[in-house]
Amino acid sequence: MKDCIFCRIVSHGTPAKVVYEDELALAFEDLNPQAPVHVLVVPKRHIESVEHADSGDSALLGHLVRTCATVARKKGIVDMGYRVVTNTGPSAGQSVFHLHFHVLGGRRMTWPPG
Ligand code: 5GP
Ligand code: ZN
Repeated sequence: MKDCIFCRIVSHGTPAKVVYEDELALAFEDLNPQAPVHVLVVPKRHIESVEHADSGDSALLGHLVRTCATVARKKGIVDMGYRVVTNTGPSAGQSVFHLHFHVLGGRRMTWPPG
């Protein structure tokens, strides 16, 4: 989608530090990390948020969550635990409207999140 920063990263028009890539998903380092490990997992196809995914996207959503686990393994944070989160809507903190899962780890996570 035009004017979408994550679509531009997916098409390699905007540089990013890629952690993992396959035909459906791309994972790259967050520009403004909130933890020692902070990676974003996005579908290559533009979907605004989980709210905009339909029943035909179920396999893709499952693949994205499994990709989060792949990223955690690659980044060496499985043993200490990690967090996967997707902000949905501006009030929940979504600022980029292309679906993404944050994979956060490398430090102790507090709960509830702010
Ligand atoms: P949200 O606030 O939508 O949940 O998360 C958006 C995330 O995208 C933020 O953590 C922000 O730091 C990250 N981000 C925004 N623009 C860019 C960019 O151009 N490159 C990368 N690598 N991350 C970005
Ligand atoms: Zn997009």
